[in-house]
Amino acid sequence: MRAGLFRDKAMKEVLVMSQRGASEVFVDGVRKGELMTTDGLKINVVNGKVQARSLAFSFASAERIELRPHGGKGLLRITGVQPKVAERTYSGSITLSVVAGDLLLVNEVAIEDYVAGVVQSEAGKDKAPEYYKLQAVSCRTYALVNKRKHILDGFEVCDGVHCQVYRGSPPCPTSKPPWMPRVEWSWWTRTSALSMQPSTAIAVVRP
Ligand SMILES: [Zn+2]
Repeated sequence: MRAGLFRDKAMKEVLVMSQRGASEVFVDGVRKGELMTTDGLKINVVNGKVQARSLAFSFASAERIELRPHGGKGLLRITGVQPKVAERTYSGSITLSVVAGDLLLVNEVAIEDYVAGVVQSEAGKDKAPEYYKLQAVSCRTYALVNKRKHILDGFEVCDGVHCQVYRGSPPCPTSKPPWMPRVEWSWWTRTSALSMQPSTAIAVVRP
């Protein structure tokens, strides 16, 4: 999935940190090095371009900066500096560019991690097991059906109530509700109403 982040805010500056290992940094498609876990990358808008600064790097006038955690297990932590937004943690890669004077952040994330993130953002932590299962199926179904909703914006779904609230992935990329076996949760995050019989699908599609 490609999810547009912070879409209800006009982001001018963010701080990106790498968790569980370094992340590769690409500037306009060219690999420039790694963002270590001990460093932080401040990214802001200058004259319609992306500028990035960390202890190890400094880039001005980039069209696009991409951060890719190593090995698929790493996470990226993003904090809004201007405007202020509390830290959120994402799995997958994040690309930053400038659109209409604001930062556009796009999170390329495995659909299972996106679904788990939406379920956590929308359902919280203490609902009944059946509720999470239906939420997971419903979220995945919505994501698949609405993949073209933001195609002109450069991503597939936004992270606000307009699509589905998505405030990052749970702490572990394959996170699950604590009471559910991993294999079972994995099945629910991989299932959409599109693959079910019509009579079952009607029960799980959100109103
Ligand atoms: Zn949307």
